[in-house]
Amino acid sequence: MALPETPSRPVPANAEAYCVKCKATRPVNEGQVVTVKNGKQALKGKCPVCGTTMMKFLSSKQTAPAAEGGTGSAG
Ligand SMILES: [Zn+2]
Repeated sequence: MALPETPSRPVPANAEAYCVKCKATRPVNEGQVVTVKNGKQALKGKCPVCGTTMMKFLSSKQTAPAAEGGTGSAG
């Protein structure tokens, strides 16, 4: 039995996310990259002030210098 291949991704330094409780952008504590249902990756962490779980979607064009202008449309 082997663990499923996890697309581990380095957590961006000084990552920030919006805390809905503080209603402010805060640096993410214990940040980790997770994959959501859509197949996209998001940064998940905790608010250093109130401890609320924060999530921030990561842009897929972070590594590849792909040109902008999406063709796919999801409705
Ligand atoms: Zn907070």
